[in-house]
Amino acid sequence: MQDVTSCWSTGVFAGVDLEQLALREGTPLYVYSAPAIRSRMRALHDALQGLNAGIRYAVKANGTLAVLQLLAEQGAGADIVSAGELQRALRAGIAACDIVFSGVGKTDAEIGMALAAGVGRFNLESRAELDAVQRIAAARGCMATASVRINPDVDAQTHAKISTGKAENKFGVAISEARAWFDAHTTWPNVQLDGLHMHIGSQLLSLAPVAEAVQRMATFWQQLVVAGHSIASLDVGGGLGVRYREGEHAPAARDYADILRTAFAGFDGRILVEPGRWLVAEAGVLLSRVVLVKQGEARRFLVLDAAMNDLLRPSLYEAWHDIVRIGDDAGRESLAYDVVGPVCETGDTFAMDRTLPRCAAGELVAILGTGAYASSMGSTYNSRPLPAEVLVDGGRYALVRRRQTFDAMIADEQPASVWNSP
Ligand SMILES: *Cc1c(COP(=O)(O)O)cnc(C)c1O
Repeated sequence: MQDVTSCWSTGVFAGVDLEQLALREGTPLYVYSAPAIRSRMRALHDALQGLNAGIRYAVKANGTLAVLQLLAEQGAGADIVSAGELQRALRAGIAACDIVFSGVGKTDAEIGMALAAGVGRFNLESRAELDAVQRIAAARGCMATASVRINPDVDAQTHAKISTGKAENKFGVAISEARAWFDAHTTWPNVQLDGLHMHIGSQLLSLAPVAEAVQRMATFWQQLVVAGHSIASLDVGGGLGVRYREGEHAPAARDYADILRTAFAGFDGRILVEPGRWLVAEAGVLLSRVVLVKQGEARRFLVLDAAMNDLLRPSLYEAWHDIVRIGDDAGRESLAYDVVGPVCETGDTFAMDRTLPRCAAGELVAILGTGAYASSMGSTYNSRPLPAEVLVDGGRYALVRRRQTFDAMIADEQPASVWNSP
């Protein structure tokens, strides 16, 4: 990313000295560059100029309040998938009307909370959910506004675990079923069904599947209009990929916007986009200290103080993250390492056979591209408290999440001394 002013040999990231930062705040530590996030928001915003379009940031990518606040200041609404994300978005100052609620398993309680808060739109994923929203809205005496999430049945050409728009995936409904909902819309008098939604997958580096899916949505929208339905919202989901390794390139916002401009020409409603990863992934790094170097019989292990509980993507998706040593590498030989965490799982591996400058215990490394689906997927597995997070901006930093304390980690636990059932 161009404006992440970083040079790992000097160890300066967005104007902040990473070694100093790690000394003050400890490791593992998530570090997010505010200018990098702003620059992506601005690029997308500029590309969408001339379209009646809104950005609904996918909170699950990185729901840290300070990150959400930064995005909200830049004009983002939110795409949420739980009551917890609803509360985060509201807490960050995002207006309820700028929130869309996605997800295949919204509970009655969550639907009720969303209606009470006045969320802008439900993205409905099944007939059962449509019925539930009708029932709950009727009971509250209100109208829900909703889009049908269609499953356009395109191959997003990404990792199977983050592909969501094929017929066999659990997400959305077939276009034929969506059509039946529109035709029978009076069955749900408390649901204003006037939008289409989709989300075909994540980490899409080619826009070809996006263009194909958008075209299918456009064709369906036109058919609905011909059939006399009025469509106020077309939401194309998220999915734009980012550069995790050399040779990869994040799609350009302009190319993406051009696809929407062409396919939705003549549409007089609102276009929504739900990027998550593209806005924040490249803005984040995970700082970690080398605990020790272990020379195994067959391999050399670089054991970090960060682990799969802090960053799950390599274990979960075999995801690649560039790893750099912080500091001047001049004169250091290169060695191949398996970069691992201390968790008791073989899967706790960030990289296999990775060539790095020779590293020693106590030195600092950064795992790059960890602004999205990183901290937000964190757990306390192996009783490792959640790491701290900082936002850096113009040479300053703000601690935006304190390192979890042991007491906080166990705060909700209690001995089985009181039995709660007879
Ligand atoms: C996860 C998700 C997104 C964001 O996906 P990215 O690949 O991070 O852009 C958008 N919409 C929905 C419905 C999602 O589930």
